[in-house]
Amino acid sequence: MITFEDLKKKLIVNNYSNKDITLVVKAFHFASEAHKGQKRRTGEEYIYHSLSAAHTLAGMKMDTATIVAALLHDVPEDTDFSFEDVKSNFGNEVYNLVKGVTKLGTLKYRGLERYAENLRKMFLAMSQDLRVIIIKLADRLHNMETLEGVRKEKRLRIAQETLDIYAPLANRLGMFRMKTKLEDLAFPYVYPKEYEWVQDLIADRLKTETKYIEKIKKNIQKTIIRNHIKYVSLKGRIKSIWSIYKKLLRKGKDINKVYDLIAIRIIVEDVADCYSVLGIIHKKWSPLKGRVKDFIAQPKPNGYQSLHTSVFTDFGKVVEFQIRTRTMDEEAEYGVAAHSRYKELGILGKRKKHPRWLQHLVEIQKAITDNTEFIKHVKHDLFANQIFVFTPKGDVIELPENATPLDFAYYIHTEIGNQCIGSKINDQIASLDTTLKSGDVVEIMTNKSRKYPSPHWLNLVVTSMAKAKIKNQLRK
Ligand code: MN
Repeated sequence: MITFEDLKKKLIVNNYSNKDITLVVKAFHFASEAHKGQKRRTGEEYIYHSLSAAHTLAGMKMDTATIVAALLHDVPEDTDFSFEDVKSNFGNEVYNLVKGVTKLGTLKYRGLERYAENLRKMFLAMSQDLRVIIIKLADRLHNMETLEGVRKEKRLRIAQETLDIYAPLANRLGMFRMKTKLEDLAFPYVYPKEYEWVQDLIADRLKTETKYIEKIKKNIQKTIIRNHIKYVSLKGRIKSIWSIYKKLLRKGKDINKVYDLIAIRIIVEDVADCYSVLGIIHKKWSPLKGRVKDFIAQPKPNGYQSLHTSVFTDFGKVVEFQIRTRTMDEEAEYGVAAHSRYKELGILGKRKKHPRWLQHLVEIQKAITDNTEFIKHVKHDLFANQIFVFTPKGDVIELPENATPLDFAYYIHTEIGNQCIGSKINDQIASLDTTLKSGDVVEIMTNKSRKYPSPHWLNLVVTSMAKAKIKNQLRK
């Protein structure tokens, strides 16, 4: 249970100003008063739910309006106080956030129509202000943590919805910590048997391995200190149980083929220290060939930065290390939320660095009116595995796996798609049915006098967006 003292501590640790904290105190009192006497199904006072959401967001260093809105997020819906009360006490920004979150809350997840409607609402809210979704995720996280108190059928519905919508959404926003937590919380409710199976499989290995990792950790800790490097944190990280499950399914259910059950993550102050620590590790233990990865000099296309290496430690055991700075770590764990305090989130149009796919969503909303098509599109184009390719100017474009140059062309612009007469991949002429790979630089050759796509292009594209655009044009 998260108390107000916990929240306050979190704010202080994360350098919120006194002015910020005063505002949060005010919101806490307001919300406590409003929810007075209300209890959650678990028997807890209602306010602990709001506190927990606010605490999650303070941990992500979200801006103060977001934290205040989290404290108030269930006030207009569930208490005698109105939206107007929120507005007059906390201003427009908080009011809009609370309103956005409340709007999302009213839909229940039942059947296809509801699912589609729900997704559309989410995307619409997201395109207006990403913070609404981030609050919603923090809200959902606490609901999942207290799911035991909920009726059985409702429990399953909420957990299923978490796996289908919220976790992929968190993933899409680069919020990996949130994604992982949601998946691991939903797993036992949606697939109880499979959950137990994985638990049993890893129990023994975790026991012996945890002890061993502890030893290695202490060992490297001493060496780092001896070399006068300041580290921010050094932790053994166990792979999430849901991702172990997924990996097991890919590896023929053989737990011995899952090597990276635990990794050691070292967070240091700056980039130079990252390389020093890597040097120290390699001097001590020899690295596995091909497993040293410098994602600092060459970030992954999604922006991920870190050094990775797997080394043979004593007794020949292989251990993976991940080394990065605090900023890199926050970006990797919190994704878009890591930018919020620098005011990059706000309204989509005003945001400097909003993800392109988000802009794309707004288009999809309008283009695909049929709900079945829409869900197919979202599941495939947005939640499936993504590849990252580049325009000749170096802009990163995200596409689903198996996308072709034609998907790329239609993603860039409808006209570019319609006028496409050929493509180059990494400067080489490539046919339009070539499957793109992450890292490819794609150039589309066009002919302005060409107006219509060929009907057989429908077989060459995998994105629903491209399909819809081609069909549209052919109809004309
Ligand atoms: Mn809530």
